[in-house]
Amino acid sequence: MIYKTAVIKAFNYDEAESAVRRALDLLGGIDRFLKPGWKVLIKPNLLAGAPPEKCVTTHPFVVRAVVNLVREAGCVPVMGDSPSIGTGSFHAKKAGYAQLCREMEVEWVDFEDDSVTAPGKTAFKKLEVARIAMEADAIINLAKVKTHGQTYLTLAVKNMFGIIPGVRKAQWHLSAGADAVQFSKMLVEVCYLHKPVLNIADGIMAMDGNGPSAGNPYPLNYIIAGEDPTAVDRVICYILKVKPSKVPTLAAAQLMGLGETRLDNIEIMGDDPAEAKVDDFRFCGQLPPIDMGRFNFLVPLVKNGVISQPKVDYDKCDQCQQCIEHCPAEAMELSPDGRKGIERIKIELDECIRCYCCSEICPEGAISVKQGWMWRRVPGFLK
Ligand code: SF4
Ligand code: SF4
Repeated sequence: MIYKTAVIKAFNYDEAESAVRRALDLLGGIDRFLKPGWKVLIKPNLLAGAPPEKCVTTHPFVVRAVVNLVREAGCVPVMGDSPSIGTGSFHAKKAGYAQLCREMEVEWVDFEDDSVTAPGKTAFKKLEVARIAMEADAIINLAKVKTHGQTYLTLAVKNMFGIIPGVRKAQWHLSAGADAVQFSKMLVEVCYLHKPVLNIADGIMAMDGNGPSAGNPYPLNYIIAGEDPTAVDRVICYILKVKPSKVPTLAAAQLMGLGETRLDNIEIMGDDPAEAKVDDFRFCGQLPPIDMGRFNFLVPLVKNGVISQPKVDYDKCDQCQQCIEHCPAEAMELSPDGRKGIERIKIELDECIRCYCCSEICPEGAISVKQGWMWRRVPGFLK
């Protein structure tokens, strides 16, 4: 099967609506994906309540373009997401979604309010997901192109992790452990539970550096849209000149036979992605696979040297303790710093499973992901 993916240049968010419409025209029109009367869940990336210019969330102008298209198809849009902490409706205010919903008379659904066990047989037992994500007639997945400490990039497949309500996400981080492959298999499974009919990635202003919450806005200047979330992610890797093997969700999708990871089977339409100038796009220190097979006994020895680790910037930290509350491994505490005699957030690296939830949720952007000491001290180590 050939999956169509549209790549459209857009230099600012005033061009978002025309870019999304052009993408949809190339994909065959919105009517190809929706039927009149359907209830359509629009799922943006609302990682945290941050203003649109921080590039943590899908820009509201992209969301607005999609609401307009859904209505033109004769459907009823509803919108929702579940950040790691707090309710979606709380964070939606800062992200500009609350105002958008008010102005466009779109219902906002907090995923934490009503969840169900995922139907059918899943490899990951008792997956609890938002009811609306299972019961909507269709889902439109609106991702943000960002770097990510654990999954290298967070794109369309990873965005659907948001259908797991709030704090349960941290529990999945813990039970999938620091095994990036296992965790990514779970992400792929969640994404394809009720496959989004349409996947649009907001890469007009992407995030590079210390994503997914404390990185920097990066003018990638593309909207990428397609029918298959994995194919969309694969095309974004092509734009960013990233080997797909670096993105564990792509490797997992290929292993599981879900979605399309081969460019040969993806029809790219619109503007030429090969023209993207991304030589200065910065990535997080990547988490190498922790499953070392028969050499697993070496994992504890190399863990702190090789694997990227969370690091607190004490100048930014206001000691709100949200990271402590949500660390799934209970590896964080507020304790006296021996040398300075003042209390600081401490991370017990031997306990830490490198899920980077703390980096995602820190409201001050005070936790970054640093490469392990071997990466930093030995040039070219494991690269
Ligand atoms: S969440 Fe961030 S600001 Fe709050 S205590 Fe943790 S590091 Fe400090
Ligand atoms: S310290 Fe941070 S990265 Fe480590 S387990 Fe806790 S939340 Fe995850």
